[in-house]
Amino acid sequence: MDDRDGTIWLDGKWVDWRDAKTHVLTHTLHYGGGVFEGLRAYHAEKGPAIFKMKEHTDRLFRSAHIMNMPMPFSKDEINEAQRGSISKNNLDSAYIRTMCFYGSEGMGLRADNLKVHVMVAAWTWGAYLGADNMEKGIRIRTSSYTRNHVNSTMLKAKANGNYINSILALQEAKANGYDEALLLDHEGFCAEGSGENLFIVRDGKLYTPETTSALEGITRDTIMTIAAEQGLEVIVKRISRDEVYIADEAFFTGSAAEVTPIREHDGRTIGSGSRGPITEKLQALYFDYVHGRRDDHAEWLTYVAK
Ligand code: PMP
Repeated sequence: MDDRDGTIWLDGKWVDWRDAKTHVLTHTLHYGGGVFEGLRAYHAEKGPAIFKMKEHTDRLFRSAHIMNMPMPFSKDEINEAQRGSISKNNLDSAYIRTMCFYGSEGMGLRADNLKVHVMVAAWTWGAYLGADNMEKGIRIRTSSYTRNHVNSTMLKAKANGNYINSILALQEAKANGYDEALLLDHEGFCAEGSGENLFIVRDGKLYTPETTSALEGITRDTIMTIAAEQGLEVIVKRISRDEVYIADEAFFTGSAAEVTPIREHDGRTIGSGSRGPITEKLQALYFDYVHGRRDDHAEWLTYVAK
């Protein structure tokens, strides 16, 4: 990842990709106290456009607020950097990673002289869970790891340290031959995937868990809007794992994962065992919106060129 041409925005300046480095005593590297975003730019007819950039930047600032992290840049400055990460690297469609982290100005949990640094990088990234799986669907397994408890880490923050839990769950799922993990909350109800929100379809209705123990996903929100506009009933409630077993369809959503069908959970086939018709419709609509092929919700796209 680090040995390539390109430019990365770091603390207000565009630096050569290979020079965008930080010291080994970087505080966030030791303790995980940072916040970040992952968003995508897509090829649209009028040029590359970032999907729901404002929403992602707003969440970044909410995450920083929760973590008591003073933001050294305005939303406008971060948004300009996110656009620049696409235009300056001549990208047409890409994944954008924006992160705020504490530097190496001090060490130890009690350090109080830390500076907040901000980076924005973008690169081409295909289907997160595999191109084939966007049609075929993935196989998931309930994790033995409980999703972070709401009073242990702050789940409304997309905070770096929260992802230890995700990494452990994903490693376990992959080691057992599955594509992704489904983490349950501390009461045993479905929370989310290691980097995705969960949806199920049953009797023509769409269900998704409430977000006490899950990230407030921006794709989740998009899908809920699209589904409601299609006349689908969308129900937010606690979902048990056996409700997923007997669902007609299931899928994960995320800026990286987009809309990924789930075909098997804990060895049980979901529905017909491939992408279901409602999943297919919502997935197709999602791709229409992100690529600017529909005029309604033009506000979801920020074109990179002004
Ligand atoms: N849950 C977790 C743990 C995630 O990391 C992500 C990806 N950001 C999501 C859900 C989906 O969120 P979004 O749709 O905003 O990308």
